[in-house]
Amino acid sequence: MSVSRLYPIFADLASRPVLVVGGGCVAERKIAGLLEAGADITVGAPALTQPLQAWVAAGRIRWISGIFAGDWLTNAWLVIAATDDRGVNAAVAEAGREQRVFVNVVDDAALSSFQVPAVVDRAPLVVAISSGGAAPVLARMVREKLETLLDPSLGSLARFAERWRDRIRQQLRDLGQRRRFLEKLFSGPVADLVRAGREEDADAALAHQLAPGTVPAAPGHVVLVGAGPGDPGLLTLKGLRALNEADVILHDRLVSPEVLQLARRDAHFVEVGKESGTHHTTQARIHELLLQYARAGKRVVRLKGGDPFVFGRGGEELEVLRDAGIPYEVVPGITAALACAAYAGIPLTHRDHAQSARLVTAHCKDSLDTLDWRALAAERQTLAVYMGVAGLDRLSSQLIAHGRQPQTPVAIIENGSRREQRVILGTLESLGRIAQEHTVKSPALLLLGEVAALGKSLHWFGAAPIIDAPAETGAPDLARAA
Ligand code: SAH
Repeated sequence: MSVSRLYPIFADLASRPVLVVGGGCVAERKIAGLLEAGADITVGAPALTQPLQAWVAAGRIRWISGIFAGDWLTNAWLVIAATDDRGVNAAVAEAGREQRVFVNVVDDAALSSFQVPAVVDRAPLVVAISSGGAAPVLARMVREKLETLLDPSLGSLARFAERWRDRIRQQLRDLGQRRRFLEKLFSGPVADLVRAGREEDADAALAHQLAPGTVPAAPGHVVLVGAGPGDPGLLTLKGLRALNEADVILHDRLVSPEVLQLARRDAHFVEVGKESGTHHTTQARIHELLLQYARAGKRVVRLKGGDPFVFGRGGEELEVLRDAGIPYEVVPGITAALACAAYAGIPLTHRDHAQSARLVTAHCKDSLDTLDWRALAAERQTLAVYMGVAGLDRLSSQLIAHGRQPQTPVAIIENGSRREQRVILGTLESLGRIAQEHTVKSPALLLLGEVAALGKSLHWFGAAPIIDAPAETGAPDLARAA
């Protein structure tokens, strides 16, 4: 059958007789789908799989035992032929033609008078995709793409809308007005509440909007999103969705351009990069901007490098939002320590070398002074130090003074997960010199501990690691340390 163009329909099969011919695994899969649609199912086949037998025994489906006969189709609204015998499948198709019943023969577009699409299921919202049998694999790939784009919570949103449908119709009788209201509803704060699983609050907010005489106040909403370390593939699906729905995106300088490119084109982008030394004023300004945009009813994404709750001051920003009564969500991101470790082939923990890992920040002199050096110098742990490059000398001498071995392996990972990633492997005692000689630049992360030596042989991403082991100090045997 050369397909002109299929006419898409969604069939209401509730309590309608449907026949499935075939009793194998394929039939089983089809029947499972039909059961969800509430169809009144008869399966016809000489033998059934175990699960099908169980459904028969439980009275969920009926069984005609035997070889296919045309009169099986009597009463059926739809038929699915799922046998592995082309002759039988053709006979079912033929009977369908005679009796004017739509027949789908699984994986055989030529014999089918209807086809079952690939489906993205956010019931009651359903997206169906068909290539008319021309390229089922392509249809499936489109489906996979849509799966990632459509939030799983769309189903609850559709159910929520269904629940309120009559009330909204009564209140807003004009179709155009109703449509505008619904468009706002599905992309606004009420929808955000549904998505966050706060149906009661959503009900209250919608009731308020519908109450006669209220001017719908539009409180904005802030999503704190972790952008990950740079590689756009490390952004979460949820983060991607937030970026696609944003009106305003306040982003750090650390967020990579590749990630920003994934955001909605007509969003308003504001870089709120912090220059060191002016942390406090800038942070206060960020708070101001967050409040200003949210109060103007915008959907704001606050996009931060890595994870917003790891040395990202995300907590402070939420406190400000909480105090102002502005709704927010948090989408975690892959923090630099996890990304740098993975992309340098350095496991943070390892049964032989490290039973724990610590995330430490040492960005300025003050933070270096407040560290618990004795605890940090303990053996059998990995330190992931988020830091400016300047303090490495201090860090090295303090750790050694508190008992960590000078020969402890270290790795400096610059621009982790980005194309320009550089990994430098060395030892604790030479840390300061290494950073200087190799002119390490921000952003860079230090991994310290026996595991760092594994980067020599386990690396897989980007340029091979630079191994800094000058002869005069006695080259540490990194391979043996691993
Ligand atoms: N919230 C971020 C950390 C912010 S502090 C996170 O979770 O990753 C900034 C420090 O993070 C930088 O000074 C650097 O030490 C580290 N960092 C962030 N991205 C990095 C990257 N791609 N490569 C190496 N280090 C990175």
